[in-house]
Amino acid sequence: MNCKTCAIMSGFGGAGAFSDGKYNITNNFGGTLYEYIGKETAIELMNYVDEINVKFGGEGTKMYSTSGTHIKKLCMQNKLNLLDASVRHLGTDINYVVLENLYAKLKDTVEFRFNCHVDDVEAIDGGYRVITKDGVDECKKCIVSVGRSGSKWMEKVCENLDITTKSNRVDIGVRVELPAVIFSHLTDELYESKIVYRTEKFEDKVRTFCMNPNGIVVNENTNGIVTVNGHSYEDPAKQTENTNFALLVEKHFSEPFKDSNGYGESIARLSNMLGGGVLVQRFGDLIRGRRSTPARIAESFLTPTLSAEPGDLSLVLPKRILDGIIEMIYALDKIAPGTANDDTLLYGVEVKFYNMEVKLDEHLETKHKGLYVIGDGSGVTHSLSHASASGVFVAREIAEEV
Ligand SMILES: Cc1cc2nc3c(=O)[nH]c(=O)nc-3n(C[C@H](O)[C@H](O)[C@H](O)COP(=O)(O)OP(=O)(O)OC[C@H]3O[C@@H](n4cnc5c(N)ncnc54)[C@H](O)[C@@H]3O)c2cc1C
Repeated sequence: MNCKTCAIMSGFGGAGAFSDGKYNITNNFGGTLYEYIGKETAIELMNYVDEINVKFGGEGTKMYSTSGTHIKKLCMQNKLNLLDASVRHLGTDINYVVLENLYAKLKDTVEFRFNCHVDDVEAIDGGYRVITKDGVDECKKCIVSVGRSGSKWMEKVCENLDITTKSNRVDIGVRVELPAVIFSHLTDELYESKIVYRTEKFEDKVRTFCMNPNGIVVNENTNGIVTVNGHSYEDPAKQTENTNFALLVEKHFSEPFKDSNGYGESIARLSNMLGGGVLVQRFGDLIRGRRSTPARIAESFLTPTLSAEPGDLSLVLPKRILDGIIEMIYALDKIAPGTANDDTLLYGVEVKFYNMEVKLDEHLETKHKGLYVIGDGSGVTHSLSHASASGVFVAREIAEEV
């Protein structure tokens, strides 16, 4: 906490710069872009961006697909639903190369201003005024693309420009780490499997998220609150013997509560209060109702890839969420025996914050003509593929008009 910023969420490449570079081509998750531009256009644009990724450094990477896999049937037989998708895994290392190559290509034709926070966007006669510490720029068309790190800023801008927003969802859970061999039959074929489970007790939806075969678990610092995340490298020399993925429980709120992200932050703060950061617990300790200790972690057959404070996640996560996670671990154990082993590690908490949704039309344009919002900052997308597709969509719309 309080460490110097590692810019994991900001700067050139945004949150994507140090991401795992899993580029999912699907309308089944990663955002709801298709609701605005149609399913076919969304997939066409995601494929187009994939071609660019391949051309600019990703040519040696692999595209995985769920099509025709026997794992779908195995999941269904065990009350699990495997979502259809194709995914290219660039990996954190190749992802970085792609960004470098894209920058080299663009730098002579696009004016980049780094370390230049946009303080405000104002509507003026016939266009927009963009205010930064360097001065004021005026334009007829303005595309806002501030990602998750700009969510609070976006909210303020929408308020000032009287643009409607809504926010009612947060996903809360843990990051699971286990020996890579336990999931290898899934990860070798699919790389990432997005599996959804409906709990028997509460009929809540729990899903796997951000699977990192042979990867590492990392801290994520959002405005001083430390949560957990994961990634992996394409380079075999940097790979570990563990696989990690998140198990997240969807939490939707109804009126009058509006601050779903605040709720998620409060839970993350609790783990930070108890552990000074992220907590880690063996599944066996959680089930037996006792905290994990450094000695119990050291004795286990699994070496953690993140140094986190051994503790008790049941003191942090609400019962309903914890029950959902435990149920899902037992369900996954049926398709990947060993998932529910005592030594499986759970890091907490992982929170998936959703930007509030900005009211946009089918052009991704706000009620102000010429003001567009794309990517995760719009609340419409939550992934690399949907975010980049939304950018190409608006660029093409404007190019056509011009
Ligand atoms: C660790 C990690 C791993 C991830 N792994 C994956 C993955 O494998 N696959 C996947 O699909 N997604 C992944 N994601 C999510 C993915 O990175 C985002 O969905 C994607 O980057 C969204 O793109 P964006 O352009 O909308 O926003 P961002 O990438 O967040 O970019 C927004 C940019 O706006 C800038 N900004 C914000 N506010 C202002 C302001 N006021 N003035 C000027 N600039 C501003 C920020 O500095 C940033 O550069 C991961 C995220 C993280 C953090």
